[in-house]
Amino acid sequence: MTANQTLGRKLYEVHPQYKEESLNHRRFKHQDILPLLEHCKEKGATISTLGHSIEDRSIHEVKMGSGSKNVMLWTQMHGDEPTSTMAVFDMLHFLLAKDEALKNVRETILNNLELCFIPMLNPDGVERFQRRNAAEIDLNRDALKLACPESRILKAAHQKNKPIFGFNLHDQSKYYNVPGTNQTASHSFLAPAYDYDKNINTVRKAAMQGIALMQEILDELHPNQSGRYNDDFEPRAFGDNIQSWGTSTILVEAGGLRNDPEKQEIRRLHFSILLSLLYNIAVDGVKDNEVDQYWAIPENDRKLNDLIIRGVQFPSIDHPIDISINKEEVDSEDGKSFYLEGLIEDLGDLSTFFGYEEFDANGLTYEAAKIYDYSLVSGPIMEGINPKEYLKEGIGVLEMDNFDLKLKLKSIPFLIVDKNENLDFSLKPGNKCAFFLKDEVGIKFAVINGNVIPL
Ligand SMILES: [Zn+2]
Repeated sequence: MTANQTLGRKLYEVHPQYKEESLNHRRFKHQDILPLLEHCKEKGATISTLGHSIEDRSIHEVKMGSGSKNVMLWTQMHGDEPTSTMAVFDMLHFLLAKDEALKNVRETILNNLELCFIPMLNPDGVERFQRRNAAEIDLNRDALKLACPESRILKAAHQKNKPIFGFNLHDQSKYYNVPGTNQTASHSFLAPAYDYDKNINTVRKAAMQGIALMQEILDELHPNQSGRYNDDFEPRAFGDNIQSWGTSTILVEAGGLRNDPEKQEIRRLHFSILLSLLYNIAVDGVKDNEVDQYWAIPENDRKLNDLIIRGVQFPSIDHPIDISINKEEVDSEDGKSFYLEGLIEDLGDLSTFFGYEEFDANGLTYEAAKIYDYSLVSGPIMEGINPKEYLKEGIGVLEMDNFDLKLKLKSIPFLIVDKNENLDFSLKPGNKCAFFLKDEVGIKFAVINGNVIPL
C-alpha cells in the first residue's frame, strides 16, 4: 500500500466514530441540518449565514482552521443529491473532535488550511427532493447570469474566500457504470475544463492531480468502481467557471452501489478520500500524483438498468428478447419517503447493457397480466386474499376506485392502479411493469413493478 492508501484506509476505518447518525437516509431536510450546525458551533466552528434561498431558507458557511490556504467545499447545489452533505457532517465531526485518533491528520489540516464548507446550497430543492431550486432553475447553469440568490451566494463566497481548491460535490444517476462491465460507478470525477479547447493550465492540472490522489485511495479501498466525466466545456456551469476563476476545481459525483440504496457506504468512502486529499493539500503532497493517473480513470458509461430479464420467448416475434426495467423513486406527499415504480425501459437485444439484478428467463415465455377489478371487493385491501393464488392465475394488476397513494408504500405483490387512469400494461417502453413468465406447465414467475416473484 502507498502512504496515501494507508491514510485512506485508516480514515475509512475510523469513520463510524464520526458518522452523523441523524442523517441516515437521503431525504433529510434543511431543518434537520440546523441543529447539526449549532452543534458544530458549540464545538468551535465559526458559522455564518451567507444569505437565503428564494423561499427564505438560510444558507450557511462553516469555517475552521488557521492556515493560509483556503479550501471551499459546497454540497447539494442540486436538491436531490445529498450524499456529500452527509459526508461533510461526518468530516466536520472528525475535524472538531478532540480525541487521539488520527490527531496528526486533523491538526495538519487545521494548521495549514482555512476550510469553508457550504452544506446544502439549494435548501428549497432539498425540501422537494428535486434537482432544481424553487424557481425550477438548475443552479449549475446559472454561474454567468446569477439569476438566483443561491448562485449569487456561491459566487460571493468564492470571491470572499479565494480558495486554492474547490470541491463541487454532487450525486449522479445510479445507472452509470464502468465501461464494458456491470460495475456501478459509485464515484465519478472531473477536473472541469475552463475553455472550449480544454486547455490544461497549472490550476486545472492540480485538480487532476487531486483526483488522481483520491483514485489512488479508491484503487485499494474500492477498486474498479470509478469513472471520469466527459470534460466538454459548459460555459454556464459553476465548476467550469470556478476553474477559470483560478481555483483548482474538483467535481465529485456519488453514483450507485449495489445494496447501498441510501448511499451510506459511498458516504463513508467520501469521508476517506476527501479528508485524505485535504491532508495532502495541507502538506503540499498533491503534486506527487501524475496527470496520467487522472486520464487512466475510465470515462463513464451509462448502461445500467435496475433489472434485466434475459432471453424471454416473446410470442409475436417467436424469438427470445431481453427486457430492461428501471425502478423510479416516486416521493410520498410529505417528501420524506418514497415508493418504487417499475417501468419498462427497453426490449430487444440488450447484450451491451447490465442490470443491478439480472434474471435468466431461458425457456420461459412472456404472458401479459390480467387485470382484477378490486373496486367490486368490499373491506380492507388484501383481507382474506392469498396473493400467490391470484398471481398463479395470471392476475397482476388490481384496479381500484378509491385509489389511495399510501397503498403504494405497502408491500403488496400486485400493481395497484387507479381504475380511472385507463392504463396500458403491454410490453412497451415507458409502460408500468406487470407480466408473467410461463413454461409449458404453467406460470412460473410474476414480474410486478420491477420485482421477479417465484410462484
Ligand atoms: Zn448535481
